[in-house]
Amino acid sequence: MSLFNAVEMAPRDPILGLNEQFNADSNPDKVNLGVGVYYDDNGKLPLLECVKTAEKQMMEAPKARGYLPIDGIAAYDSAVKNLVFGAGSDAVKSGRVATVQALGGTGGLKVGADFLKRLSPNAKVLISDPSWENHRALFTNAGFVVEAYPYYDAARRGINFDGMLTALNAAPAGTIVLLHACCHNPTGYDLTAGQWDQVVAVTKARQLVPFLDMAYQGFGAGIAEDGAVIGKFVASGQDFFVSTSFSKSFSLYGERVGALSVLCSNKEEADRVLSQLKIVIRTNYSNPPTHGGQVVATVLNTPELRALWEKELAAMRVRIKQMRTAMVQKLKAAGVKQDMSFIEQQVGMFSYSGLTKDQMVRLRSEFSVYGTDTGRMCVAALNSRNIDYVCACIAKVVG
Ligand code: PMP
Repeated sequence: MSLFNAVEMAPRDPILGLNEQFNADSNPDKVNLGVGVYYDDNGKLPLLECVKTAEKQMMEAPKARGYLPIDGIAAYDSAVKNLVFGAGSDAVKSGRVATVQALGGTGGLKVGADFLKRLSPNAKVLISDPSWENHRALFTNAGFVVEAYPYYDAARRGINFDGMLTALNAAPAGTIVLLHACCHNPTGYDLTAGQWDQVVAVTKARQLVPFLDMAYQGFGAGIAEDGAVIGKFVASGQDFFVSTSFSKSFSLYGERVGALSVLCSNKEEADRVLSQLKIVIRTNYSNPPTHGGQVVATVLNTPELRALWEKELAAMRVRIKQMRTAMVQKLKAAGVKQDMSFIEQQVGMFSYSGLTKDQMVRLRSEFSVYGTDTGRMCVAALNSRNIDYVCACIAKVVG
Protein backbone atom coordinates (compact mmCIF):
# COMPACT_ATOMS: atom_id res chain seq x y z
CA MET A 1 0.00 0.00 0.00
CA SER A 2 1.28 3.45 -0.86
CA LEU A 3 2.30 5.85 1.90
CA PHE A 4 -0.06 8.42 0.46
CA ASN A 5 -3.01 6.12 -0.06
CA ALA A 6 -5.15 7.82 2.55
CA VAL A 7 -4.24 11.39 1.63
CA GLU A 8 -7.39 13.29 0.85
CA MET A 9 -7.65 15.92 -1.84
CA ALA A 10 -7.67 19.29 -0.07
CA PRO A 11 -10.35 21.76 -1.11
CA ARG A 12 -9.25 24.27 -3.73
CA ASP A 13 -8.42 27.78 -2.58
CA PRO A 14 -11.63 29.65 -3.45
CA ILE A 15 -9.89 32.71 -4.93
CA LEU A 16 -7.34 30.72 -6.92
CA GLY A 17 -10.18 28.53 -8.16
CA LEU A 18 -11.94 31.64 -9.40
CA ASN A 19 -8.75 32.73 -11.19
CA GLU A 20 -8.54 29.39 -12.98
CA GLN A 21 -12.14 29.73 -14.09
CA PHE A 22 -11.45 33.28 -15.26
CA ASN A 23 -8.39 32.23 -17.26
CA ALA A 24 -10.38 29.52 -18.99
CA ASP A 25 -13.22 31.96 -19.91
CA SER A 26 -13.11 32.91 -23.61
CA ASN A 27 -15.43 35.96 -23.33
CA PRO A 28 -13.33 38.95 -24.52
CA ASP A 29 -15.24 41.23 -22.11
CA LYS A 30 -14.37 39.15 -19.03
CA VAL A 31 -13.35 41.07 -15.91
CA ASN A 32 -11.64 39.59 -12.86
CA LEU A 33 -12.73 41.35 -9.68
CA GLY A 34 -12.01 38.30 -7.54
CA VAL A 35 -8.32 38.94 -6.99
CA GLY A 36 -6.74 41.04 -4.27
CA VAL A 37 -4.41 42.84 -6.63
CA TYR A 38 -4.12 46.48 -7.76
CA TYR A 39 -4.11 46.99 -11.52
CA ASP A 40 -3.50 50.31 -13.24
CA ASP A 41 -5.93 51.97 -15.64
CA ASN A 42 -4.58 49.82 -18.49
CA GLY A 43 -5.45 46.73 -16.52
CA LYS A 44 -1.75 45.99 -15.93
CA LEU A 45 0.03 45.08 -12.73
CA PRO A 46 2.22 48.15 -12.12
CA LEU A 47 5.99 48.06 -11.73
CA LEU A 48 6.62 51.16 -9.64
CA GLU A 49 9.23 53.66 -10.85
CA CYS A 50 10.75 53.79 -7.35
CA VAL A 51 11.21 50.01 -7.49
CA LYS A 52 12.73 50.16 -10.98
CA THR A 53 15.18 52.85 -9.90
CA ALA A 54 16.19 50.97 -6.75
CA GLU A 55 16.71 47.79 -8.78
CA LYS A 56 18.82 49.68 -11.32
CA GLN A 57 21.01 51.00 -8.53
CA MET A 58 21.31 47.51 -7.09
CA MET A 59 22.27 46.07 -10.48
CA GLU A 60 24.92 48.73 -10.98
CA ALA A 61 26.60 47.70 -7.73
CA PRO A 62 25.88 43.98 -7.61
CA LYS A 63 26.45 42.19 -4.36
CA ALA A 64 27.18 38.56 -3.64
CA ARG A 65 24.22 36.77 -2.08
CA GLY A 66 25.24 35.55 1.34
CA TYR A 67 22.69 34.50 3.92
CA LEU A 68 20.89 37.39 5.53
CA PRO A 69 20.70 37.56 9.31
CA ILE A 70 17.75 35.52 10.64
CA ASP A 71 15.74 38.68 11.28
CA GLY A 72 16.58 40.12 7.86
CA ILE A 73 18.29 43.24 6.57
CA ALA A 74 18.96 45.66 9.45
CA ALA A 75 18.23 48.73 7.28
CA TYR A 76 14.94 47.13 6.22
CA ASP A 77 13.85 46.36 9.78
CA SER A 78 14.64 49.89 10.90
CA ALA A 79 12.78 51.36 7.89
CA VAL A 80 9.74 49.26 8.81
CA LYS A 81 9.89 50.45 12.42
CA ASN A 82 10.03 54.07 11.29
CA LEU A 83 7.17 53.60 8.85
CA VAL A 84 4.90 51.77 11.26
CA PHE A 85 5.67 53.56 14.53
CA GLY A 86 6.93 56.90 13.19
CA ALA A 87 10.53 57.98 12.62
CA GLY A 88 11.83 59.53 15.79
CA SER A 89 8.91 58.18 17.83
CA ASP A 90 9.57 57.29 21.42
CA ALA A 91 8.65 53.65 20.74
CA VAL A 92 11.43 53.38 18.13
CA LYS A 93 14.02 55.50 19.93
CA SER A 94 13.63 53.60 23.19
CA GLY A 95 14.37 50.30 21.41
CA ARG A 96 11.06 48.80 22.55
CA VAL A 97 10.10 47.47 19.11
CA ALA A 98 11.29 44.05 17.95
CA THR A 99 10.98 43.84 14.15
CA VAL A 100 11.81 40.97 11.83
CA GLN A 101 11.68 40.82 8.05
CA ALA A 102 9.10 38.26 7.00
CA LEU A 103 7.79 36.50 3.90
CA GLY A 104 5.04 38.98 3.09
CA GLY A 105 2.29 39.94 5.47
CA THR A 106 1.35 36.27 5.68
CA GLY A 107 4.85 35.46 6.93
CA GLY A 108 4.61 38.22 9.56
CA LEU A 109 1.30 36.80 10.78
CA LYS A 110 2.69 33.27 10.86
CA VAL A 111 5.86 34.18 12.78
CA GLY A 112 3.69 36.10 15.26
CA ALA A 113 1.22 33.22 15.57
CA ASP A 114 3.97 30.64 16.21
CA PHE A 115 5.62 32.88 18.82
CA LEU A 116 2.26 33.51 20.52
CA LYS A 117 1.52 29.79 20.63
CA ARG A 118 4.67 29.24 22.68
CA LEU A 119 3.92 32.25 24.86
CA SER A 120 0.19 31.65 25.48
CA PRO A 121 -0.63 28.10 24.37
CA ASN A 122 -4.18 28.23 25.73
CA ALA A 123 -5.19 31.63 24.41
CA LYS A 124 -8.04 31.90 21.93
CA VAL A 125 -7.82 33.99 18.80
CA LEU A 126 -10.64 36.30 17.74
CA ILE A 127 -10.87 37.44 14.13
CA SER A 128 -13.48 39.68 12.51
CA ASP A 129 -16.59 38.21 10.92
CA PRO A 130 -15.81 38.15 8.05
CA SER A 131 -12.03 38.39 7.71
CA TRP A 132 -9.28 37.76 5.18
CA GLU A 133 -9.89 34.11 4.37
CA ASN A 134 -6.40 33.02 5.47
CA HIS A 135 -6.59 34.43 9.03
CA ARG A 136 -8.63 31.58 10.43
CA ALA A 137 -6.61 28.83 8.76
CA LEU A 138 -3.29 30.41 9.66
CA PHE A 139 -4.04 30.73 13.38
CA THR A 140 -5.79 27.34 13.45
CA ASN A 141 -2.73 25.70 11.89
CA ALA A 142 -0.56 27.45 14.49
CA GLY A 143 -2.57 25.48 17.07
CA PHE A 144 -5.13 28.03 18.24
CA VAL A 145 -8.88 27.83 18.64
CA VAL A 146 -10.14 30.64 16.41
CA GLU A 147 -13.48 32.38 16.90
CA ALA A 148 -14.97 35.49 15.33
CA TYR A 149 -16.23 38.80 16.69
CA PRO A 150 -19.14 40.50 14.90
CA TYR A 151 -17.99 43.03 12.30
CA TYR A 152 -20.01 43.35 9.10
CA ASP A 153 -23.61 44.39 9.40
CA ALA A 154 -25.28 43.60 6.09
CA ALA A 155 -28.57 45.29 6.94
CA ARG A 156 -26.88 48.51 8.00
CA ARG A 157 -24.31 48.39 5.21
CA GLY A 158 -21.60 49.02 7.74
CA ILE A 159 -20.08 47.73 10.95
CA ASN A 160 -21.89 46.11 13.85
CA PHE A 161 -19.77 48.07 16.26
CA ASP A 162 -21.86 47.35 19.35
CA GLY A 163 -21.62 43.65 18.62
CA MET A 164 -17.88 43.92 18.16
CA LEU A 165 -17.38 45.78 21.45
CA THR A 166 -19.63 43.37 23.33
CA ALA A 167 -17.62 40.40 22.05
CA LEU A 168 -14.31 42.02 22.97
CA ASN A 169 -15.66 42.90 26.42
CA ALA A 170 -16.66 39.30 26.97
CA ALA A 171 -13.29 37.85 25.90
CA PRO A 172 -11.08 36.39 28.63
CA ALA A 173 -7.80 38.14 29.45
CA GLY A 174 -5.02 37.01 27.13
CA THR A 175 -7.30 36.52 24.12
CA ILE A 176 -5.51 37.43 20.91
CA VAL A 177 -7.58 39.90 18.87
CA LEU A 178 -6.79 40.19 15.18
CA LEU A 179 -7.64 43.68 13.94
CA HIS A 180 -7.36 45.09 10.43
CA ALA A 181 -5.39 48.32 10.87
CA CYS A 182 -6.93 49.85 7.72
CA CYS A 183 -8.75 48.93 4.50
CA HIS A 184 -10.64 45.98 5.97
CA ASN A 185 -10.49 42.90 3.76
CA PRO A 186 -13.06 41.80 2.61
CA THR A 187 -15.69 44.41 3.55
CA GLY A 188 -13.96 47.78 2.89
CA TYR A 189 -15.47 49.17 6.10
CA ASP A 190 -13.03 50.66 8.61
CA LEU A 191 -13.65 51.82 12.17
CA THR A 192 -13.78 55.56 12.76
CA ALA A 193 -11.11 57.20 14.93
CA GLY A 194 -13.61 57.39 17.78
CA GLN A 195 -14.46 53.71 17.46
CA TRP A 196 -10.77 52.81 17.46
CA ASP A 197 -10.40 54.72 20.74
CA GLN A 198 -13.08 52.49 22.22
CA VAL A 199 -11.44 49.32 20.90
CA VAL A 200 -8.08 50.42 22.31
CA ALA A 201 -9.72 51.08 25.70
CA VAL A 202 -11.40 47.64 25.73
CA THR A 203 -8.31 45.66 24.74
CA LYS A 204 -6.44 47.48 27.48
CA ALA A 205 -9.11 47.09 30.17
CA ARG A 206 -9.69 43.41 29.33
CA GLN A 207 -5.95 42.69 28.93
CA LEU A 208 -6.42 41.32 25.43
CA VAL A 209 -3.51 40.93 23.02
CA PRO A 210 -3.98 43.17 19.97
CA PHE A 211 -2.56 41.84 16.70
CA LEU A 212 -2.85 44.46 13.98
CA ASP A 213 -2.72 43.28 10.41
CA MET A 214 -1.55 46.18 8.25
CA ALA A 215 -1.56 44.88 4.69
CA TYR A 216 -2.73 48.08 2.99
CA GLN A 217 -0.98 51.01 4.64
CA GLY A 218 -1.37 53.95 2.25
CA PHE A 219 -4.36 52.58 0.36
CA GLY A 220 -6.99 54.16 2.60
CA ALA A 221 -6.53 57.83 3.49
CA GLY A 222 -2.71 58.08 3.36
CA ILE A 223 0.37 56.53 4.90
CA ALA A 224 0.24 58.49 8.17
CA GLU A 225 -3.56 58.47 8.35
CA ASP A 226 -3.76 54.71 7.87
CA GLY A 227 -1.01 54.18 10.43
CA ALA A 228 -2.66 56.45 13.02
CA VAL A 229 -4.23 53.49 14.78
CA ILE A 230 -0.75 52.26 15.72
CA GLY A 231 -0.14 55.54 17.57
CA LYS A 232 -3.37 55.01 19.51
CA PHE A 233 -2.26 51.59 20.72
CA VAL A 234 1.21 52.91 21.59
CA ALA A 235 -0.28 55.80 23.56
CA SER A 236 -2.46 53.39 25.54
CA GLY A 237 0.64 51.67 26.91
CA GLN A 238 -0.27 48.19 25.63
CA ASP A 239 2.11 45.65 24.18
CA PHE A 240 0.94 44.51 20.77
CA PHE A 241 1.81 42.93 17.43
CA VAL A 242 1.77 44.45 13.94
CA SER A 243 2.25 42.57 10.69
CA THR A 244 3.22 44.61 7.65
CA SER A 245 2.91 43.77 3.98
CA PHE A 246 4.51 45.62 1.06
CA SER A 247 2.87 43.36 -1.50
CA LYS A 248 0.29 45.98 -2.44
CA SER A 249 1.92 49.26 -1.46
CA PHE A 250 5.07 48.47 -3.50
CA SER A 251 3.33 46.21 -6.03
CA LEU A 252 5.87 43.55 -5.05
CA TYR A 253 3.46 40.66 -4.58
CA GLY A 254 5.82 37.92 -5.68
CA GLU A 255 8.87 39.16 -3.78
CA ARG A 256 7.23 38.29 -0.44
CA VAL A 257 8.24 41.38 1.48
CA GLY A 258 6.66 41.93 4.86
CA ALA A 259 7.49 42.15 8.52
CA LEU A 260 6.40 41.48 12.05
CA SER A 261 6.85 44.10 14.75
CA VAL A 262 6.21 43.56 18.44
CA LEU A 263 5.95 46.53 20.78
CA CYS A 264 7.32 45.59 24.19
CA SER A 265 7.48 47.41 27.52
CA ASN A 266 11.20 48.13 27.32
CA LYS A 267 14.34 47.42 25.30
CA GLU A 268 15.47 44.50 27.38
CA GLU A 269 12.11 42.80 26.84
CA ALA A 270 12.24 43.58 23.11
CA ASP A 271 15.67 41.91 22.92
CA ARG A 272 14.30 38.76 24.51
CA VAL A 273 11.23 38.75 22.24
CA LEU A 274 13.46 39.24 19.19
CA SER A 275 15.58 36.26 20.23
CA GLN A 276 12.43 34.10 20.31
CA LEU A 277 11.14 35.39 16.97
CA LYS A 278 14.51 34.41 15.52
CA ILE A 279 14.06 30.85 16.76
CA VAL A 280 10.66 30.66 15.08
CA ILE A 281 12.21 31.86 11.81
CA ARG A 282 15.33 29.71 12.08
CA THR A 283 13.29 26.55 12.53
CA ASN A 284 10.88 27.38 9.71
CA TYR A 285 12.92 28.79 6.84
CA SER A 286 16.20 29.89 8.44
CA ASN A 287 16.38 33.41 7.03
CA PRO A 288 14.54 35.62 4.54
CA PRO A 289 15.43 36.22 0.87
CA THR A 290 17.53 39.22 -0.15
CA HIS A 291 16.02 40.95 -3.16
CA GLY A 292 12.60 42.34 -2.15
CA GLY A 293 13.80 43.48 1.26
CA GLN A 294 16.76 45.26 -0.32
CA VAL A 295 14.49 47.04 -2.82
CA VAL A 296 12.10 48.25 -0.12
CA ALA A 297 14.95 49.27 2.22
CA THR A 298 16.60 51.24 -0.60
CA VAL A 299 13.37 53.06 -1.45
CA LEU A 300 12.35 53.81 2.13
CA ASN A 301 15.84 54.93 3.16
CA THR A 302 16.62 57.14 0.10
CA PRO A 303 14.76 60.45 0.41
CA GLU A 304 14.14 60.96 -3.35
CA LEU A 305 12.95 57.38 -3.83
CA ARG A 306 10.83 57.58 -0.73
CA ALA A 307 9.15 60.73 -2.10
CA LEU A 308 8.61 59.00 -5.44
CA TRP A 309 7.06 55.98 -3.67
CA GLU A 310 4.68 58.21 -1.74
CA LYS A 311 3.62 59.85 -5.00
CA GLU A 312 3.09 56.52 -6.75
CA LEU A 313 1.20 55.08 -3.78
CA ALA A 314 -0.98 58.20 -3.67
CA ALA A 315 -1.77 57.73 -7.37
CA MET A 316 -2.93 54.16 -6.72
CA ARG A 317 -5.05 55.36 -3.79
CA VAL A 318 -6.61 58.18 -5.81
CA ARG A 319 -7.38 55.92 -8.76
CA ILE A 320 -9.22 53.48 -6.50
CA LYS A 321 -11.25 56.36 -5.06
CA GLN A 322 -12.10 57.56 -8.58
CA MET A 323 -13.31 54.09 -9.48
CA ARG A 324 -15.54 54.06 -6.38
CA THR A 325 -17.09 57.41 -7.27
CA ALA A 326 -17.53 56.41 -10.90
CA MET A 327 -19.10 53.11 -9.89
CA VAL A 328 -21.74 54.82 -7.74
CA GLN A 329 -22.61 57.20 -10.59
CA LYS A 330 -22.61 54.56 -13.29
CA LEU A 331 -24.71 52.09 -11.31
CA LYS A 332 -27.30 54.81 -10.83
CA ALA A 333 -27.15 55.74 -14.52
CA ALA A 334 -27.54 52.07 -15.44
CA GLY A 335 -30.82 52.01 -13.56
CA VAL A 336 -29.91 50.55 -10.16
CA LYS A 337 -32.62 51.85 -7.84
CA GLN A 338 -31.04 51.07 -4.47
CA ASP A 339 -28.63 53.51 -2.89
CA MET A 340 -25.14 52.28 -3.73
CA SER A 341 -23.32 55.28 -2.24
CA PHE A 342 -21.82 53.02 0.45
CA ILE A 343 -19.26 51.96 -2.19
CA GLU A 344 -17.74 55.43 -1.88
CA GLN A 345 -17.63 55.25 1.90
CA GLN A 346 -15.71 51.99 1.86
CA VAL A 347 -11.91 52.15 1.72
CA GLY A 348 -9.09 50.10 0.28
CA MET A 349 -9.09 47.63 -2.55
CA PHE A 350 -12.37 45.87 -1.82
CA SER A 351 -16.05 46.48 -1.78
CA TYR A 352 -18.61 44.31 -0.13
CA SER A 353 -21.18 45.06 -2.82
CA GLY A 354 -24.17 43.66 -0.96
CA LEU A 355 -24.90 41.36 -3.92
CA THR A 356 -26.19 37.90 -3.06
CA LYS A 357 -24.46 34.66 -3.93
CA ASP A 358 -27.01 34.05 -6.70
CA GLN A 359 -26.33 37.47 -8.18
CA MET A 360 -22.57 36.89 -8.04
CA VAL A 361 -23.02 33.52 -9.76
CA ARG A 362 -25.12 35.17 -12.47
CA LEU A 363 -22.50 37.90 -12.95
CA ARG A 364 -19.95 35.17 -13.52
CA SER A 365 -21.89 32.70 -15.61
CA GLU A 366 -23.86 35.13 -17.77
CA PHE A 367 -21.48 38.10 -18.02
CA SER A 368 -17.99 36.80 -17.17
CA VAL A 369 -17.62 39.31 -14.33
CA TYR A 370 -15.81 37.45 -11.55
CA GLY A 371 -16.18 38.33 -7.87
CA THR A 372 -16.41 36.08 -4.82
CA ASP A 373 -19.72 34.49 -3.79
CA THR A 374 -19.71 36.70 -0.69
CA GLY A 375 -20.26 39.73 -2.92
CA ARG A 376 -16.70 40.99 -2.57
CA MET A 377 -15.38 42.87 -5.58
CA CYS A 378 -11.87 44.23 -6.05
CA VAL A 379 -12.43 47.89 -6.96
CA ALA A 380 -8.69 48.16 -7.68
CA ALA A 381 -9.19 45.93 -10.74
CA LEU A 382 -11.73 48.31 -12.31
CA ASN A 383 -10.53 50.73 -14.98
CA SER A 384 -11.90 53.26 -17.43
CA ARG A 385 -12.41 50.54 -20.04
CA ASN A 386 -14.17 47.85 -18.00
CA ILE A 387 -16.19 49.90 -15.52
CA ASP A 388 -19.13 50.64 -17.85
CA TYR A 389 -19.49 46.98 -18.69
CA VAL A 390 -19.22 45.91 -15.04
CA CYS A 391 -21.82 48.46 -13.90
CA ALA A 392 -24.21 47.53 -16.72
CA CYS A 393 -23.92 43.84 -15.77
CA ILE A 394 -24.45 44.56 -12.05
CA ALA A 395 -27.54 46.58 -12.99
CA LYS A 396 -28.87 43.58 -14.93
CA VAL A 397 -28.47 41.16 -12.04
CA VAL A 398 -29.77 43.42 -9.28
CA GLY A 399 -32.72 44.50 -11.43
N1 PMP B 1 -3.60 40.36 5.51
C1 PMP B 1 -4.59 40.79 4.72
C2 PMP B 1 -5.76 41.45 5.35
C3 PMP B 1 -4.51 40.63 3.33
O1 PMP B 1 -5.50 41.05 2.57
C4 PMP B 1 -3.36 40.02 2.78
C5 PMP B 1 -3.17 39.82 1.31
N2 PMP B 1 -4.22 39.72 0.52
C6 PMP B 1 -2.36 39.59 3.63
C7 PMP B 1 -2.50 39.79 4.99
C8 PMP B 1 -1.14 38.90 3.13
O2 PMP B 1 -0.25 39.71 2.50
P1 PMP B 1 0.98 39.09 1.68
O3 PMP B 1 0.47 38.83 0.33
O4 PMP B 1 2.00 40.17 1.75
O5 PMP B 1 1.40 37.86 2.38
